[in-house]
Amino acid sequence: MMKITGKTTVCGIIGDPVEHTLSPAMQNAAFQALGLDWVYVPYHVTEEDLPAAIYGMRSLGIRGLNVTIPHKVEVLPLLDSLDKLAEQIGAVNTVINRDGKLTGYNTDAFGFLQALAGNGVEIEGKNIVVMGAGGAARAAAMALGGKGANLIVINRTAKTATELVARVSYFLPGARIMALEMNEENLRAVAGDSQIIINTTSMGMNPYANNSPMPAHLIQPHHTVFDVVYSPLKTKLLRDAEMGGAKTINGLDMLVWQGGAAFEIWTGKKAPIDAMKLALIEAFVEK
Ligand code: NAP
Repeated sequence: MMKITGKTTVCGIIGDPVEHTLSPAMQNAAFQALGLDWVYVPYHVTEEDLPAAIYGMRSLGIRGLNVTIPHKVEVLPLLDSLDKLAEQIGAVNTVINRDGKLTGYNTDAFGFLQALAGNGVEIEGKNIVVMGAGGAARAAAMALGGKGANLIVINRTAKTATELVARVSYFLPGARIMALEMNEENLRAVAGDSQIIINTTSMGMNPYANNSPMPAHLIQPHHTVFDVVYSPLKTKLLRDAEMGGAKTINGLDMLVWQGGAAFEIWTGKKAPIDAMKLALIEAFVEK
């Protein structure tokens, strides 16, 4: 059991809802693995209370926060400074408090790339479909845009996809990227030509575990299908991809690596990735 004293350093996660989060299991396991007198707690913070919560981070001396849905964009103007990548992505999932000065980072992009690399997926020169254009898609597209891939961002709301493509093109002028509206005809056209299919939409996330953004018959054995959704770990998209003979990657590795990067920002120490992954898997099993 962890012993909390007056010297214990506090980190946490803010979101609405936040009850489902598995980050406390992962981060507390990391603190314990390194013998740190630190603790990580979930805070339920509504949109209305976000400014007060961020202000309170300074006065309470909270060292670090993860920021999750729906605050990843709204938190930006409440911080003192932004890391360059967080500024380019336009979303923050990690905040560090250095003597009352708050700096925002985005570790989702790093986690996303590590998940692909760790599963042996090469990006350069590949045709990649990114389904979705929300916060996770922004991190994914910015991460992939600098890696020499040909990207198509396909989203239910075409305007959001167009805005995302404009954003990536602005910050990464050499990026090969285009936007499309998500419909069956466009999905068929892009799936046939692509090697890597990535879902960043919340379709398939609990409680909609029987939904998938990509019709099963469009998935072929040459595809690598990466679903960033981690609840459930095996989404309908991944089940369909397995049935279709494709290589699959679930959202667990991205979750671990984005958490590891946040841990390193707060503590300045190398994250114990294996201990964090094990704690997450145990938390998934207990859920
Ligand atoms: P978000 O900003 O709310 O974006 C949601 C996206 O899903 C939008 O593109 C939205 O399209 C699309 N969408 C939602 N419902 C849809 C539907 N019924 N049909 C078609 N498209 C639909 O959310 P986010 O922050 O990007 O998160 C998305 C998912 O990624 C969540 O499940 C989250 O848990 C997961 N995630 C995982 C990790 C990880 O570490 N593994 C990290 C970050 C996020 P519109 O623009 O048309 O609304």
